[in-house]
Amino acid sequence: SAKDAGKNCYQFYSPHLSHRADHLMQWEQQLRVALSENQLFLVYQPKIDLARRCITGFEALARWNHPQQGVISASEFIPVAESTGLIVPIGDFVIETACRQLAAWQRDGYETLSLAVNISAVQFWRGDLYETISRAIEDTGIAAHRLELEITETAMMEYPELVSEKIVALKRLGVGIALDDFGTGYSSLSYLNRFSVDTLKVDRSFVQAIPADRSVCVMVSAIVNLARSLGLTVVVEGTETEEQIAWLSALGNIQAQGFLFSRPVPAEGIPALLERFGVCDMHEPFGSYGKS
Ligand code: C2E
Ligand code: MG
Ligand code: MG
Ligand code: MG
Repeated sequence: SAKDAGKNCYQFYSPHLSHRADHLMQWEQQLRVALSENQLFLVYQPKIDLARRCITGFEALARWNHPQQGVISASEFIPVAESTGLIVPIGDFVIETACRQLAAWQRDGYETLSLAVNISAVQFWRGDLYETISRAIEDTGIAAHRLELEITETAMMEYPELVSEKIVALKRLGVGIALDDFGTGYSSLSYLNRFSVDTLKVDRSFVQAIPADRSVCVMVSAIVNLARSLGLTVVVEGTETEEQIAWLSALGNIQAQGFLFSRPVPAEGIPALLERFGVCDMHEPFGSYGKS
């Protein structure tokens, strides 16, 4: 039948979703179904305090449990969601689910854990991000400062005026702002102030070059020192080896994420991680270096 032929067609392009216009419509349709049939879910990757080796919080990452293809990563379907505008309802789902998770932690006595969600540029100019976030915070009764929004430099730079204006409003709610994938875009360090960033996330591409590439090591060490002098929390992304961790630990008070500590896990996997690493005893999940 035509339906079976359609199935074969998208299986042919597996596992990489094609972004070509003719396939975009097909993926758009499937993503709509994914939303209404609850095929989307979140996985959680811990952020580890390198000095104390405890968990400060998690980052939520979107996954799609596709009926034929199995679990599809964010890196594959988020670009499709962005180009079709579906990132707005998907983003709403992510924010609402994350706030419910924070509320569950609060109920279980894990009141210091933070949770970060990724926000696309599209969500700033389509949809009402402020409304979604303020409503989710109110509905779940969470402490707003436990929620952090991760925004890439590229997203911030796309509409700097609009984005900085919206960030000011969001920060008044109490949420934290992280600059994601730092070092891959073209932002200057002045953007750290302009966008009132609390956390700087050093991109995986830098971390991968540690400790072999001397100049990358010098850059990372300078970035970390500068960020901390500005009162920012520093998180290094994509730590995969003991060598990287040993070198990064020497920089002092920073946090790390990466496969070496844990891959992102579904909600059911969180208790085992909390058990294994323990929860950091801290009062401020981000911007914890004396910035108020
Ligand atoms: P990101 O926010 O920089 O997230 C880090 C990505 O690196 C994740 O891929 C994570 O699974 C992966 N990762 C973590 N540790 C390691 C490691 O040690 N080695 C390697 N090789 N990879 C590691 P993922 O989940 O496929 O997400 C890709 C990107 O998609 C994210 O980059 C983020 O920009 C975006 N994204 C993910 N979830 C969402 C979402 O809910 N909304 C929006 N708007 N974007 C999202
Ligand atoms: Mg992120
Ligand atoms: Mg990143
Ligand atoms: Mg990334």
